Amino acid sequence: MAFELPKLPYAVDALEPYIDAQTMTIHHDKHHAAYVSNLNGAIEKHPELGKKSLEALLGDLNAIPEDVRMVVRNHGGGTWNHSMFWEIMAPKAGGAPKGELAKAIDKVFNSFDNFKAEFEKAANGRFGSGWAWLVKKGSGLAIVSTPNQDNPLSDGLTPVMGIDVWEHAYYLKYQNRRAEYVTNWWNTVNWDAIAARFAAK
Ligand code: MN
Repeated sequence: MAFELPKLPYAVDALEPYIDAQTMTIHHDKHHAAYVSNLNGAIEKHPELGKKSLEALLGDLNAIPEDVRMVVRNHGGGTWNHSMFWEIMAPKAGGAPKGELAKAIDKVFNSFDNFKAEFEKAANGRFGSGWAWLVKKGSGLAIVSTPNQDNPLSDGLTPVMGIDVWEHAYYLKYQNRRAEYVTNWWNTVNWDAIAARFAAK
């Protein structure tokens, strides 16, 4: 198989009370697993695609054969997005970024509090299913949101962090209260992991 479901880097209940164990189990073992499985199904039809990285595939969707392009976009995006999502959260996390990332956030968004407000606006304002992202844009940073499992890589942007605002990410615990999920989610954010992503390349 070309792509594999990564193990969660912590126990399913590690992000309680902000993300409950049942949501985490279904989200990883069912939703993420299905994205990986469907991506691999598309790769089976075009084995040459399996030789590329997921970043390369998502970064040039037009290069993907038309019969599997939408599958790779949706399920390749779902595969990549969730792998990132697990990594940028951690137990006993939250707080504020440090170092170069903190400086960059202050420079672009004036303050960390203002960044959080703008990011929450993007997360809560995404109609239906999708993601809000902090991305590298040129030498700076920007906040964007995408529908479905679309990834900023397809728009030439490099994601540094992102929040899943599909209902499957929060509905069991928060029902329709997406804003409450987003507010609580900050307590799970692993700024060290995000700083490392920001520093890469
Ligand atoms: Mn999800």
